[in-house]
Amino acid sequence: MLPAFAYARPGSLREALDLLKDAASAPLAGGTDLQGCMEDGVARPARLVSLAAVPELRGLEVRPDGSLRIGAATPLAELAAHPAVRQRHAALARAAASVGSPQLRNQGTLGGNLLQRPRCWYFRGDFPCARKGGGTCYAQDGRNARHAILGGGRCVMVHPSDTAPALVALDAVVQLAGPRGARRVPAGELFVGPERDVRRETVLAPGELLVEVLVPAAPPGARSGYDKARARGSFDFALVGAAVALVLRGRSVERARVVLGGVAPLPWRSRPAEQALEGRALDEGSLAAAAEAAVAGADPLAENGYKVAMTRGIVQRLLASLAAG
Ligand SMILES: Cc1cc2nc3c(=O)[nH]c(=O)nc-3n(C[C@H](O)[C@H](O)[C@H](O)COP(=O)(O)OP(=O)(O)OC[C@H]3O[C@@H](n4cnc5c(N)ncnc54)[C@H](O)[C@@H]3O)c2cc1C
Repeated sequence: MLPAFAYARPGSLREALDLLKDAASAPLAGGTDLQGCMEDGVARPARLVSLAAVPELRGLEVRPDGSLRIGAATPLAELAAHPAVRQRHAALARAAASVGSPQLRNQGTLGGNLLQRPRCWYFRGDFPCARKGGGTCYAQDGRNARHAILGGGRCVMVHPSDTAPALVALDAVVQLAGPRGARRVPAGELFVGPERDVRRETVLAPGELLVEVLVPAAPPGARSGYDKARARGSFDFALVGAAVALVLRGRSVERARVVLGGVAPLPWRSRPAEQALEGRALDEGSLAAAAEAAVAGADPLAENGYKVAMTRGIVQRLLASLAAG
């Protein structure tokens, strides 16, 4: 059952930040994740601060240089359908389009997608797990078919967001605002792994809001995409997700970004896979080498060995589709 809570609807960023100085308040975007967290008892805010009427968090704008400014409260459906995003930043459009169902994409926002909490059944369930301040990661020796094959350690949750790997691959930057002022953080540095702090998933400080996401213009020769494997065809979280952004010069890969979702506690940038591509033509050999390199260091648990082959397959399939243009 949803516990009782108060509700505030500020009309400006300043007002929202003032309300969020109270540690018992939490930001409410689309609520598609937060409501479940409250029902599961992993979030207990006394007051929800709606972001729906904060103008600074709204809008999706293509700037004259081709870069994007996306307000954190932009619905995923808008992102997925935007012609410029689809054409020039396909990884982001495809990732947004692959989130949940049409209802979730209409209601869910980009900010909420990046900042959603883990889906691990022990975290959401009645277990005092490490992420909730206990001493144990129950998934390590428990049911772990959906858990991490890379970067685990103190907690083997997987990062659930589809858009996060895409934004890391596209070298996006996020703008944060909080009681101590504003700051910019590269998307690749937004997320926190369990070895650094097992209690949180991002660098956001208490009372801080994600205001907007800035995606640089796609350079000439840029191609990007996102692909995901899920248990249910209709709507589901990624068992494995992959975002790839390439800059091609002729047939040769000048720059590669390969970022995985659903396999590690944070979006997992695979530098070995990038190195297997850079300086080489996009051909069968480099595709296979990159797919193999993407699982370098994988350390599967008892029930999730299938993710190793699945990761190889998803990376190779996505690269093949980018090679085909
Ligand atoms: C059935 C189901 C299927 C789903 N499938 C997928 C899927 O396939 N892929 C996927 O990626 N996700 C999926 N989700 C998760 C979630 O619904 C989406 O990620 C959605 O985008 C969350 O956005 P929201 O606006 O509803 O976030 P909310 O629930 O409003 O917020 C999520 C969290 O972020 C915080 N927050 C929100 N906005 C801000 C901000 N601007 N600044 C600071 N904090 C903020 C909130 O306080 C909360 O802790 C699914 C959820 C459900 C229920």
